[in-house]
Amino acid sequence: MARMPLGFGLMRLPKTGDALDTEMIKKMVDRFIQSGFRYFDTAHPYHDGASEKVMREAIVERYPREDVWLTTKMPIWEIKEYADHEKYFQLALDRTGAGYFDSYLLHNLSEDRIENCEKCGSWEFLREMKAKGLIRHYGFSFHDKAERLDEILTKHPEAEFVQLQLNYLDWESDRIQSRRCYEVARKHQKPIIVMEPVKGGSLATLPEKIRAPLTAYAPHASAASWALRFVSSLDGVVLVLSGMSNMAQLEDNIRLMSDFHPLNAEEKALVEQVRVAIEHTPSIPCTRCEYCVSGCPEKIDIPSVLSALNTYQVFENVAGAKATYGWATRRNGKASACRACGACEAQCPQHLNIIELLKKAASVFE
Ligand code: SF4
Ligand code: SF4
Repeated sequence: MARMPLGFGLMRLPKTGDALDTEMIKKMVDRFIQSGFRYFDTAHPYHDGASEKVMREAIVERYPREDVWLTTKMPIWEIKEYADHEKYFQLALDRTGAGYFDSYLLHNLSEDRIENCEKCGSWEFLREMKAKGLIRHYGFSFHDKAERLDEILTKHPEAEFVQLQLNYLDWESDRIQSRRCYEVARKHQKPIIVMEPVKGGSLATLPEKIRAPLTAYAPHASAASWALRFVSSLDGVVLVLSGMSNMAQLEDNIRLMSDFHPLNAEEKALVEQVRVAIEHTPSIPCTRCEYCVSGCPEKIDIPSVLSALNTYQVFENVAGAKATYGWATRRNGKASACRACGACEAQCPQHLNIIELLKKAASVFE
């Protein structure tokens, strides 16, 4: 894949009430394309299917197909057998009207989904669609440990690119392993698409005391611009996806990427200073070991709920925290469903007061 510096992620689109604000999305699409960019990324679950549909209305029906680069993803968690691939692929074609996809991904390849894709023939399906001309390039998005990434890329050298969660906050994280995953992708010489460069918006809303060194160095640069420049400065990165929610974010991204300068040594040191400052900001010390999860009678995704609470408390990022909470409770119990049985607290090696924290999460997010 050739380098296309900025991609428009259609996952946090502007809304009016509960519906997508299609007219505003059209204006944002127009501005994006007029500025010389053309990569659009959606997926089956974004906005409960409305994102794939708005790709048709705002892009496919308004621009020559060959002028735009359209990407969507296979919801591999729904796949039980080979025929399921056809069902979801056809649904994406019907919703988007794209005719074919310039790139197509196995969405969120991680944990037991990796084996399930092998068992159900997901890779064979990608090859078949490419042979039919319905996919031009294929790869996968990934949320697991670096060694699993190494296994996948060794077994499937045909993957043409990888999409990784890279940002300066997760760079040294044991859980996300941004740096280590990046190094594995480089070892396999795969082009890298970056997702979550501003960590769900958190790095765009840094509290003033944390971002002070950045403000002192460049008073007019947004916090988000530092995060985007960090990932865009990495060798091998061919595209940075940004889930843009309003025109101001779009303009900021366009300004930055139209006149991009990689971080210099002094700027890299400032970003590292901020990363360390965030790391040392008091937060709920949940390690995501998940010992608490299996015994919960309400199937509450406790670590993800606590992560949402951290996003809210540390970054004061209300929208990002609510989005994380929404994902955490889509199929699992809400924080308010907690019946205070204490089973989780008995398992928690960090001795967290989970029941109280869930009460707080319920009051903030529900
Ligand atoms: S105390 Fe609440 S969160 Fe913990 S196991 Fe019981 S129901 Fe689940
Ligand atoms: S057991 Fe404790 S530290 Fe582990 S995931 Fe649950 S809340 Fe977090």
